[in-house]
Amino acid sequence: MKPTAYFVLSIGGPIFAAVMAVSTLYALSDWLEEKRLPFLPLALIGFVAAWVLARWLVHHFAWVACPKCGAKSYEMDGVSSRFRCQVCGKAF
Ligand SMILES: [Zn+2]
Repeated sequence: MKPTAYFVLSIGGPIFAAVMAVSTLYALSDWLEEKRLPFLPLALIGFVAAWVLARWLVHHFAWVACPKCGAKSYEMDGVSSRFRCQVCGKAF
């Protein structure tokens, strides 16, 4: 994919996952009430966990094509939206 698409995915993916997690918990709110589990703290934990998980998945499994050789390039650790090519080592 292109860096622009990656950027959209790296922001949109976690938002989507987090919203899905909270909606799922919300759909289960009757069941949670039955088990005397508080919805809000769980929703907060679910939101953060889904966000972190989705961001981790994008970071480790989504790749962009290297502008020099077209090979898979993964995001650098600790640097958002900077990539390093697996084949030629080009950073962009
Ligand atoms: Zn390359």
